[in-house]
Amino acid sequence: MEIIKLEKVCKNYGEIKALKDVCLTVEKGEWVTIMGPSGSGKTTLLNIIAGLDVPTSGEIIVGGKKLNSLNADELAEWRAENVGFVFQQYHLIPYLTALENVMLAQFMHSVPDEVEAEVILKKVKMGHRISHYPSQLSGGECQRVAIARAIVNKPPILLADEPTGNLDRENTEIFLNLVKELQKEMQLTVVLVTHNPYIPKWGDRTLLLEDGVLKCL
Ligand code: ADP
Ligand code: MG
Repeated sequence: MEIIKLEKVCKNYGEIKALKDVCLTVEKGEWVTIMGPSGSGKTTLLNIIAGLDVPTSGEIIVGGKKLNSLNADELAEWRAENVGFVFQQYHLIPYLTALENVMLAQFMHSVPDEVEAEVILKKVKMGHRISHYPSQLSGGECQRVAIARAIVNKPPILLADEPTGNLDRENTEIFLNLVKELQKEMQLTVVLVTHNPYIPKWGDRTLLLEDGVLKCL
């Protein structure tokens, strides 16, 4: 069953054509890795799938919903239910502990649940660090808290923008194995963009984005 479908999506920023007629179908539970050099349109593509940005033309259907037809409030509500995001820079709140960072995501979605937040942190092997602040955690640990935050509300889709860009090889591997585990366990659909040639072997399918054009490898 397809969960993400982009049809002839174009995104222009003035003269810049960031995405050119992008067509993409992702099946539920599939992990698609999109490789591409800096400036090729990877972040633009993820933001459009997440409904954080709107295309100049083309259609986006995610989980059966036409995103083009939703207004900003409806989009925000849709995103809270459907999408978890992981970024290269983690984007944890510095003055909140690991546990509080995860509980903030619960609060933004519905109601905080400390027990469940702790369970999720244990799942990403951060159970021993729940009271630490981001500055007291390593990069790999921060990214594991970020993934706990992304999945705590059980979204069907995980979008990851260069998630291992700041990690060494060992932590890259820990992170990717974790995503693989969650993909299987939660039937999570993963779209991960990267320029790390080492990553694709974890995913189910790899595509190449070059100068706004999406191609098969
Ligand atoms: P990547 O994530 O692959 O590095 P981006 O999607 O960030 O690429 O950017 C693709 C192109 O679109 C780049 O040329 C970038 O400068 C341009 N771009 C991205 N976002 C904006 C924006 N908000 N305004 C203007 N140009 C942008
Ligand atoms: Mg980017």
